[in-house]
Amino acid sequence: MIQRETSARMRRSTAHPSGGPVRTCIGCRKRELAVELLRVVVVTDGNGPGNGPGTVTVDAARTLPGRGAWLHPDPQCLHAAIRRRAFGRALRITGSPDITAVMEHVGAGAEAP
Ligand SMILES: [Zn+2]
Repeated sequence: MIQRETSARMRRSTAHPSGGPVRTCIGCRKRELAVELLRVVVVTDGNGPGNGPGTVTVDAARTLPGRGAWLHPDPQCLHAAIRRRAFGRALRITGSPDITAVMEHVGAGAEAP
């Protein structure tokens, strides 16, 4: 009989074994490994909560404090998130934040009218 020692090795190479942290994309609402997603956080102008929606910035290093949201680095997911106002909901802010930085990061270009 042939020892099937390759099976264990093959299993390890597929996706993430037992997984890393999983987050939900605010655009398409699919669950995804956090490493595959973009973390965005909202930065307020220092006026405290309730005084303007603030600016959403890309947390590439995943070290920024504050409430974050997760998104596929994909223009389609970004537009879906904008359409359903997922940023406000995920980041617990009212109004539409400035997401120019996120748009530039995913290559979505200028905002559509
Ligand atoms: Zn997505």
